[in-house]
Formats: sequence, C-alpha cells, structure tokens
Amino acid sequence: MMFAEYKNDSLYIEKVAFADIARQFGTPCYVYSRAALLESAREFMEAFPDALLCYAVKANGNLAVLETFAKLGCGFDIVSGGELARVIAAGGTPSKIVYSGVGKTAEEIECALNAGILCFNVESFSELDLIAAVAEKLKLMAPVSFRVNPDVDPKTHPYISTGLKENKFGIPIEACLDAYRRAAALPYIRVIGIDMHIGSQLTAIAPFADAVQKLLPVIDALNREGISLHHIDLGGGIGVTYRDETVPPLKEWAAAAQRILGNRAERLIVEPGRRMVARAGFLLSRVIHLKPGSPHQFAIVDAAMNDLMRPALYEAWHPVLPVVQHHDVPKTHWNIVGPVCETADFLAKDRALSLKQNDWIAVGVAGAYGSSMSSNYNARPRAAEVMVDGDRAYLIRKRETIESLFANETGLIL
Ligand SMILES: *Cc1c(COP(=O)(O)O)cnc(C)c1O
Repeated sequence: MMFAEYKNDSLYIEKVAFADIARQFGTPCYVYSRAALLESAREFMEAFPDALLCYAVKANGNLAVLETFAKLGCGFDIVSGGELARVIAAGGTPSKIVYSGVGKTAEEIECALNAGILCFNVESFSELDLIAAVAEKLKLMAPVSFRVNPDVDPKTHPYISTGLKENKFGIPIEACLDAYRRAAALPYIRVIGIDMHIGSQLTAIAPFADAVQKLLPVIDALNREGISLHHIDLGGGIGVTYRDETVPPLKEWAAAAQRILGNRAERLIVEPGRRMVARAGFLLSRVIHLKPGSPHQFAIVDAAMNDLMRPALYEAWHPVLPVVQHHDVPKTHWNIVGPVCETADFLAKDRALSLKQNDWIAVGVAGAYGSSMSSNYNARPRAAEVMVDGDRAYLIRKRETIESLFANETGLIL
C-alpha cells in the first residue's frame, strides 16, 4: 500500500491532491501521510505487543514525525547528541531512548546520562571505559547493553550490512563475555541488556533468526555468572517493498523471534527505522526541462541527489508517479535526473512515463533516509516538508533559505 491513489488522473495522498501541495508549498518538497505513519507504528505494536518500540530516528528525524510516534508512546533509537536533542524537542520520553553508534563522544554521553536515557548500546571496550569515566564524574549510574556482532550475512546491500565481522559495528560475539565481565565490575555501570542490529532493508527472516539464535548462549552464560539482563534488543532493519521485493509480514518476524526466545523473562526491544516511515513519504518535484536524445532521454527535475541520495548511493530503485496523468502524450523511457553536477545525480532510470515540461512527479517510498540524508551540495537549500492529515496539508519544515546556507561562514579574516 502506498497511501496514494489516482482520482480522475490526479494523484492524491490521503484526501489532498499532490498538485495542490506543489502549488501551495513549491517544489522540491517531501510529503508525508500521517495516516501511513500511524499505521506502521500500530503494525509494529501489534506484531510485537510486549516489546518496547524504539523508532530509529536516523531514518527520518523531522520533529513532526517524531512527535507522531512519541504520542503513541514509542521510544527512540538515537545515534548522536543531535538526535537526542531532536527527540527531547519532539516530546519523546528520555527513559525510552536507546543510544546506538560506534563513536559516542564524552559530551554526547554526558548529555544522554543527564537526560536519563534507558540504555547505551555499547559498541567497543573503549566506549565502555569512556561511559564509565563520564558516569563516575557525574556520579550517575550508566545503564548499558552490548551490541553483539553475530557475524551473519544479512543478504542486503553491502553498504547497509552491519552484522558481519568485517563491519565496524558491535563487539565480536567471541569477546562479549569478557565485555560483560568488565562492565559488571565497574562501579558506575549497570548492565541491563543485550543488543544486535545486523543491517538494513532485510527481506529474509533467516539471517535475523540466525543472529537471535546466536545471542542465546551468551545470555545463558551471563546468567550462570550471575549477570542477568532486563532486555533483549533485536535491532531494526526490516525491509520494505520499493519495487518487487517480497518482505515477510511483521508478524512472521515476530513469530521467528518468539520461536527462538520462547517465554524468556527479558523484555524485547525493537528498533525499526525504514519500515516505520518509508512508505509514508513522497518526494514531490517539478520537471524543469525535457532533454530527449540518444541513447538516453533525460527528464531534468528540481529534486536531486542532495534531496534523495539513495539512488546515487546504492543505486536504489524508487517508484516514480506522475502527479497528473496525460493521455495525449506518448510514453517515453526517461532517466529522471536532477540539476546537480554529478553523473550519479539521478532519481530513477528508464521509466516509461508521459511527461511534459513543468509536470510534477512524486517519487514514492521516500520517507526513510530521504530528508534525513539530504545535503546542501551545489548550494541547494534543503527541501520543504509537508504533513498530510486527512484533507489537511501543512508545512512541518520550511524550505531552507539561500542566506542560511552561508550564515555560519565568515569570509576571510584579514
Ligand atoms: C539504522 C539503525 C536502525 C534502523 O534500521 P532500519 O533499517 O531503518 O530499520 C536500528 N538500529 C540501529 C543500531 C541502527 O543503526
């Protein structure tokens, strides 16, 4: 389900026509369906009824998106002090925040301890020592889990696989017991959980299940040593359908975890990002020029790789939908490209579309790792963002101004 449909050849998101959004807010512009956000959160809550749902902020950190989830009682998975500040600004509950990432700094750790987060997902011995030192300085207990690198191949794009031993993430599974022993002996550290996250855009359950399976002997060995855990964090990574990928329903992922974990006492945490927001978002853009030619026909649009980086970064495939369908223009196979001066600047290739100059297009399944990965490359202001709620559409992020792009620069100081 894409939460968009045609009525009389005009594309709608909920009850609002994309054409009206483009006229009112301009392009390029990200558009999100609030109903779609709510539906994916509820889907997770139903599939994992006893788990704490910690939405991975990096997929889309817009305050309105975070607020939507916070109001449902969601927790959050963060990877920086900036994301911590975003969650707090959006009304998120600090005691439902887990903090992941390989490079937490002393300043970030201090902010998170002062905020009272649920748990640090620790990714190295060095990080454990730093957290212990900061906690001791503040005289605050630091709750920790170790992120275990289970060495499983998640069968996804190499840039988004994280649970192989050659990846930078997590503690090698063989070293885990030592990590826990060291942590248990530290005065300002409280060991509370175990964590994994093997990669993103997973479409098969087997690697996920293998990884969960590998955690069990670690948890049991810890129990025998008197280190008992409060939670097991299964990470995120569950994929979505961009083109024709089949992704098992959430209930099957939950059932697979359940089969392995049985009725253990530890509480489950899940950290989905992409699956919570991808389908809710569209990147709305205008065709600036049509440039037919050989061998490629280019439709040059006003959104570019700085707005949506996934095609350039991973050769990701996104659906492209014309905002108004024409029946008087023959279909041509277009490469949809942006104005940025890079050959990698494309949004889609070889799409059969009936396009005219100044038409609008909507790039679908763009709610995850779209806006959050955007940049100002080529001195392009970041796009506006709009939330649709039934028959209402409102601005949730203003388009950046050109002046803001160099507001932090001083020029030469001679
Ligand atoms: C990115 C990330 C997630 C979310 O991944 P998705 O593929 O978007 O679900 C969850 N946990 C950690 C530690 C991450 O780095």
